[in-house]
Amino acid sequence: MVKKVFLLFSGGLDSIIAARLLKLRGFEVEAVHFKTPFFGKEEGELKELADRIGVELKVFDITDEFLPILKNPPHGYGKNANPCIDCKALMLKKLKEIAGGGIIATGEVVGQRPMSQRAQALRLIEKIAGLEGRVLRPLSGKLLPPTVYEENGFIKRDWLLNLQGRSRKRYPEIVKSLGIDADLPTPAGGCLLTQPAFAKKVKDLIKHGHLTKEDIVLLKIGRHFRLFDGKLVVGRNREENLFLKNFAKGEDILFYTVDVPGPAAILRHSFSPEDVELASRIVAGYSDGKNRDAVLVAVERNGKREEIKIEPLLNFDSYRVT
Ligand code: SF4
Repeated sequence: MVKKVFLLFSGGLDSIIAARLLKLRGFEVEAVHFKTPFFGKEEGELKELADRIGVELKVFDITDEFLPILKNPPHGYGKNANPCIDCKALMLKKLKEIAGGGIIATGEVVGQRPMSQRAQALRLIEKIAGLEGRVLRPLSGKLLPPTVYEENGFIKRDWLLNLQGRSRKRYPEIVKSLGIDADLPTPAGGCLLTQPAFAKKVKDLIKHGHLTKEDIVLLKIGRHFRLFDGKLVVGRNREENLFLKNFAKGEDILFYTVDVPGPAAILRHSFSPEDVELASRIVAGYSDGKNRDAVLVAVERNGKREEIKIEPLLNFDSYRVT
């Protein structure tokens, strides 16, 4: 009987090696990819990759479950805004639901990542997910205690690898021995939460209680400012200016220059007149009229538009989030 393995599949080389290793031992592999606005790869590219290595692909958006963890991770953050222990535990919990009684596997390598892949962390993550001894890690399996799958004879220890740490020295040999194509597509995209500048913006939203799906969309564009009350996002180019103009809704306040070329900007979560004045001055400060005494800035909210003549602000670094 062909046994089915549900593999946590990032689309990176480690998960490809794990998939291939299990396929070669006669297992049917279902590659499960989880995504949120912060991580996850392009579905079309993943599908092409999955077809090339002969596995079935399922992609799930776990944003709703992930956001509460990101706001308040029980096991804390890594170096930036990455709550890796709780994130991995969430993925394994979801994988357990999807797998039913099937075998659960990941492409993790012991000691490869500082927060979530130390041997102790791997055990903790299994415990949180209610999967103690039930996560097969073929790339490091020889170095880890036997899983239930080994104990019940589905998996043999000598099929498993003994990789550990960050070194990739042995990868070419392993890739070759498993018959993995050297020209496999490698979908781009790491985890944004590990990037210091992005993490700063995320933590600013968390601090002000505005980590909503809409606010997260804006994290990926523009320059970000924390004003007295609200958050200002200023476009950096024509595409971003257009995006911000189309994005503004409800209580958002949209700003753009009228008498000189300049950026568009959105002020969110603010009812403060001081913020409107400061935002207008920053927008004017980014415009081609920054050296004038005053620039005309349009201010729109709830379909109402007014124009204010305002002195450009040139020194606004103290308001910048990034
Ligand atoms: S790096 Fe990002 S995606 Fe990976 S475990 Fe950490 S938080 Fe989750």
